[in-house]
Amino acid sequence: MADKRDYYEVLGVDKSSSDDEIKKAYRKKAKMYHPDLHPDDKEAEKNFKEVNEAYEVLSDKDKKARYDQFGHAGVDPNYGGAGGYGGAYTGGFDVDDILNSFFGGFGGRRQSNPNAPRRGNDVETICSISFEEAAKGCRKKISFQRIDNCDECDGSGAKKGTSPKTCSACGGTGQVKINSRTPFGVVQTSRACDACGGRGRIVENPCPRCDGKGRIRKTREEEFNIPAGVDDGQRLSVSGRGNAGINHGPAGDLYITISVRPHPIFERKGNDVYCELPLTFVQACLGAEVIVPTLDGKVTYNVREGTQPGDRFRLKGRGIQSLNGRGKGDQYVTVTIEVPKNLSKRQKELLQEFDGNSSDKNYQNRKGFFNKIKELFGE
Ligand SMILES: [Zn+2]
Ligand SMILES: [Zn+2]
Repeated sequence: MADKRDYYEVLGVDKSSSDDEIKKAYRKKAKMYHPDLHPDDKEAEKNFKEVNEAYEVLSDKDKKARYDQFGHAGVDPNYGGAGGYGGAYTGGFDVDDILNSFFGGFGGRRQSNPNAPRRGNDVETICSISFEEAAKGCRKKISFQRIDNCDECDGSGAKKGTSPKTCSACGGTGQVKINSRTPFGVVQTSRACDACGGRGRIVENPCPRCDGKGRIRKTREEEFNIPAGVDDGQRLSVSGRGNAGINHGPAGDLYITISVRPHPIFERKGNDVYCELPLTFVQACLGAEVIVPTLDGKVTYNVREGTQPGDRFRLKGRGIQSLNGRGKGDQYVTVTIEVPKNLSKRQKELLQEFDGNSSDKNYQNRKGFFNKIKELFGE
C-alpha cells in the first residue's frame, strides 16, 4: 500500500486547484476509466477506483486538509503500516456510491439522516447535431438515462401492500458509531450500518420491479431547444431533468454536451465561417461573377481581375449568430485556383499563343523571384 499514488497526481490537478477544477478533472477521469466502457479490464477498474478514492478525499474539505498535512496517512490509517491502526478507515466505496457519483452529481455524500430529502444527482448526455443546426438552432429529440422512483412501489422498495420497517441495528439512522485508535488518538467515527446498508430501513418483501431499491434507471426521450450559435463541446443545462430526488428532494439537472458534426464545405472558428472557393484560372485572370455558398443560401460575388490563389474575401454578417443573440460572425472565403488538365490540341495552341504574348508585366511575382535568384547566384 505504501506505493499509493499522490491523489493530486491521480486527478491531474494541484493543491491550488479550485473545487470546480477538481470536480471537472474527476468527471473526465471517471469517464475515461468507467467499467461500463471497459468491461473485464482490470487496469481500468483499478484506475477507476483510484480516481474515485482521490476524489472522495479531495472533494471533502476536512479530508483534503488532513491529506495536505499528513499525506495518505492523514486519511487512511491503514496506510504505510503492517496491519494498520485497527481498520478505522471508513472511506471505502460501495458500488452505489461510485455509480451515483458517475451518473452525475457530487451531492451524493452520505448524510447522517438517511430519511432527509436529498437532491437527485445530475445526469449527462451527448447530443450530435449538424453544422447548420448549430448555426441556426434546432429542436432535438434527445434520449438520456436518469434514475427515477419506481412507479410500482412509489420509491419505497417494498412490494405492493407491504412497507419497509425501521432498521433495529441503527434505529433508522443508517449509521453506527465506532471508536477507533488512529495516529491522532482515539476517534469516534461513524460508518454505514451493515444491517440496512445505511438506508435506515429494511425491506423484507422487495418490490419485484426495482429489486427493492425503490429506484430504477430509465431511458427517456424528450425534445429540447438547442439555441442558435451553440458550438462543438458546449454544455447546455436543463434544470430538474436529472435523477429524481431522494425522500422527495428536488431532482438533479440534465447536462447536454453538444457534438457538432463537421460540414463538407464550411469550417467554424468562433462565430466566423470559413470556406474555400475554387476558381478556374481564366476566372482568376479576368475576374468573374461567381456563386458562393453561405449558411443562408447562395450569394453572388464579383471576383476581381487578377485574383491570386490564397486571396481571401469577407462576406460581412454571413457567419453564425452569437449564442447570446447579439451580433453575427462573418464568412471568409479563400480562393483556390485549379490548373486545367487534359487539354486538347487546340487549347494547347491557344495557351502557347497566349504565352508568346505574355511579358514580365503579366507576372510580377515571378519577375521578382528571378531577379532575386540573379542577385543570389549572379548571372
Ligand atoms: Zn419498486
Ligand atoms: Zn441500520
